[in-house]
Amino acid sequence: MAGKPGFFWSLLTQKCPHCRRGDMFSNPNPWNLKEMTKMPAHCPVCGQLFELEVGFWYGTAYVSYLLTVIFSGLSFGLWWLTIGFSLEDKRFFWWLGINGFLLLVLQPWIMRLSRAMYLYFFVSYDEHFESSPPKTFDYSSEDYFLKKEDPLK
Ligand SMILES: [Zn+2]
Repeated sequence: MAGKPGFFWSLLTQKCPHCRRGDMFSNPNPWNLKEMTKMPAHCPVCGQLFELEVGFWYGTAYVSYLLTVIFSGLSFGLWWLTIGFSLEDKRFFWWLGINGFLLLVLQPWIMRLSRAMYLYFFVSYDEHFESSPPKTFDYSSEDYFLKKEDPLK
């Protein structure tokens, strides 16, 4: 296969971290709420296990909280630069409402992105994914805590 799929693009499109080709989620549309968090057990392309251990996804709550904070910070900054804030009118509350609304609408996507980011933290890209076995979660192995390659390259 040609080329190495980019780190950020694979993350944003929620591809498997091991091969960056297989989809992490069964339904490509995150706003189909019934299937929002439905994932195959293994990557359809390389066989990478997604839920590395029971309860693995609980940690994603912190990631999604962080993303929510970052999003709100950015929208606050953008609002400040374009519309501004004043004590004499209700502009602040408009921002609060619109920001809350956007977060609500984006929630399914943020949830998926959190899972992807969380899994990317533990599983790194392997360009020989077709011939080498997928990674398993093994606390006794140091592999999972040592970065083998810079994911930004
Ligand atoms: Zn894969």
